[in-house]
Amino acid sequence: MEPVKFYIMNCGNMITPEGNVLAALNTPMLKLVIPVPAYLLVHPEQGLVLIDTGFNYDHIPDEMKADIAWSPLLKITEQIRKLGYAPADVKHVILSHLHFDHAGQMEDFPNALFHMRKSEWEDALPPSRSDYLEEDYKEAQFFQFEYIPESMEYDVFGDGTVMSIPTPGHSKGHSSFIISLRNSGRFLLTMDAAHMPQYMEDTSFFADSKDVEGCKKSIEKLKELKKECDHIIYGHDPETFSRLKKIPEYYN
Ligand SMILES: [Zn+2]
Repeated sequence: MEPVKFYIMNCGNMITPEGNVLAALNTPMLKLVIPVPAYLLVHPEQGLVLIDTGFNYDHIPDEMKADIAWSPLLKITEQIRKLGYAPADVKHVILSHLHFDHAGQMEDFPNALFHMRKSEWEDALPPSRSDYLEEDYKEAQFFQFEYIPESMEYDVFGDGTVMSIPTPGHSKGHSSFIISLRNSGRFLLTMDAAHMPQYMEDTSFFADSKDVEGCKKSIEKLKELKKECDHIIYGHDPETFSRLKKIPEYYN
């Protein structure tokens, strides 16, 4: 069997006050440019597998658009086409959570099977809050879903390629992932349980969180898992992101 290919793509950049992602620094005037990644696996048996879907520029309210750096070429469907695939080749979409910068382009994959934790879905449905955009799942809520068991680590395809790790706190049904590759080793994707490496060491960043205890517990879990992994990718860290291979390059 061919090895699984793992592509990392950027869906655009967000310009955000440093205080939003590193709250403890309390430097509201300093702005950071942070990537909004999504991940693609080309799996010899499962077809194309997407992990998260970035934001959808058309859904973002106008007042937020000034802080988004985007081009239509960054649409996930475009990035997939450039590799020589069609969007319909995406058979599975695995979601970390449903915030607008992760669930934005669900609607572009109507034939895929969506995998996520049910608690996240229930928490995101109306009445939704600022980080969730109803528009993102207006159509997608009618797609096909397979729910990942709530509070256990789960091998999504039963072959060890994608482990879904429950890391609630940042959002109710948040998931992190471990991707295991034949040649490149194991990647821990913290997703938004740790936006940046600083979150692994300093839990005061979670002071404003709705579920501080949940966030801290999830960090402890990630610290343990990190020991078993060869690489770690944080949710929105410009520094780590700049050092990774990006599409069309890949890990395998
Ligand atoms: Zn989030």
